[in-house]
Amino acid sequence: MRDKILQIEKTAKLLSPDYSSRGEWTDKIVGFTQDFIENLESKRAYHNIDLKNTQLNLQITENGVELDQILDELSRFMINQGLNPASGGHLGYIPGGGIYAGALGDLLAAVTNQYAGIYYGGPGAVKIENELIRWMCSLMGFPSTSLGNLTSGGSIANLIAIVTAREAFEINSKEIDQLCLYLTDQVHHCVHKAIRIAGLAESQVRTIPLDAFYRMDSHALEAQILKDKALGLKPFLVVATAGTTDTGAMDPLKEIGLIAQEQNIWFHVDAAYGGFFILSELDHPEKGSVKAAFSGVDLADSIAIDPHKGLFLSYGLGAVLIKDVKSMYKAHYYRAAYMQDTWNPEDEFSPADLSPELTKHFRGLRLWMALHLHGIKPFVAALDEKLLLTRYFYSEIQKMGFEVGPFPDLSVCIYRYIPSSGDINEFNQRIVEYIVKIGNVFVSSTTINGDYWIRIAILSFRTHIREIDIYLNDLKQALNALTEK
Ligand SMILES: *Cc1c(COP(=O)(O)O)cnc(C)c1O
Repeated sequence: MRDKILQIEKTAKLLSPDYSSRGEWTDKIVGFTQDFIENLESKRAYHNIDLKNTQLNLQITENGVELDQILDELSRFMINQGLNPASGGHLGYIPGGGIYAGALGDLLAAVTNQYAGIYYGGPGAVKIENELIRWMCSLMGFPSTSLGNLTSGGSIANLIAIVTAREAFEINSKEIDQLCLYLTDQVHHCVHKAIRIAGLAESQVRTIPLDAFYRMDSHALEAQILKDKALGLKPFLVVATAGTTDTGAMDPLKEIGLIAQEQNIWFHVDAAYGGFFILSELDHPEKGSVKAAFSGVDLADSIAIDPHKGLFLSYGLGAVLIKDVKSMYKAHYYRAAYMQDTWNPEDEFSPADLSPELTKHFRGLRLWMALHLHGIKPFVAALDEKLLLTRYFYSEIQKMGFEVGPFPDLSVCIYRYIPSSGDINEFNQRIVEYIVKIGNVFVSSTTINGDYWIRIAILSFRTHIREIDIYLNDLKQALNALTEK
């Protein structure tokens, strides 16, 4: 028995490479990432997908292959295909991040594999995650008794918030069809997913009209709530968006929050994209300041906010912030016999008790690392830079003859070209196709009330004025090419 164990131990120990093998692999991987970053500016933001080149060549084998082979394989079929989200030319959807300090935090989290689910297992990791959540709560003006959870992203953050609201209102299955939920057609689609997953699909979902700025019309909201009450229905939840995906619009949080308070309904703010602009020090022509556009966010019962958007971290870090931690706990905790030895101090919660997850990636370390290595100042500068770039773009594009949507509340705006003849939607679709084909930048589009609009969303930490000028130039080229007969 002992001999047999010792014999297979030799093979099993291949999973623990020695000091020099670790160094060799690490050097190669770091070299790969260094080259990747150094070459980003000369790389396309979008590579047309070569359907002949999307297949994996490497097979999973008994004995593994050389690291070089693996990196070659990744270069061939992954790095140079489709969207390059690390590029500063990524101006579509909501751009992602990938700041290096965050990646180093991930490496540390993975190598030390600290347990961030339960306090008893990883008090340090849990403390770090809860401190980050409390920091975000304080940014939003939430009381110090608030908490939340670090999630994989905004979708799960919105889901946890809605499930918590359901718990707080002690909704039972028989009353679901009388519940009223209020949102606009600009709400992110993951909110609709969350409503369904939370078991609330049979409730009355009211789509509140928008004003001319694509923001929720708060008067219409109030009127609808009163109407529903008069019908004997149960107004339950309003979802406002701080930075919509389509146009970057800020719903009037204060007005909505006061109505929610008055009518005793749960106020959720989806700030997945826009939330960190609360750090901005810029003015805003209509609101006074960008910060002022967030006035009333502290009235929220829950907020979703994505550090993998507004703090430029790699994909996989969102957050939900919740005032009523008791209801959050009630909705998510569970006790199992095999966990009977665990305990929590009075003043600290375990992430596993506030989310559907138990074992999870110690995802907070990337944010903690980045905030401590850089301090907050460069983040604020980068956010303000994105806002100013959007305003610069908004003004330049009008000089080129484009029609524009409202002045950008944040770092998204919509625009389209009205050709002298032909179908407007089709013409703008051709512009987008032309731009993506050039590949210097990647942009996406949306449709609002049947009109096709091109969007720009500026949120990559690598997007600077260089990238915007390149795009403006590409647009000139596109107009020339598409308008000449
Ligand atoms: C991105 C986004 C979401 C979804 O977040 P994920 O992190 O992609 O899951 C939700 N709401 C808004 C407003 C968003 O911009």
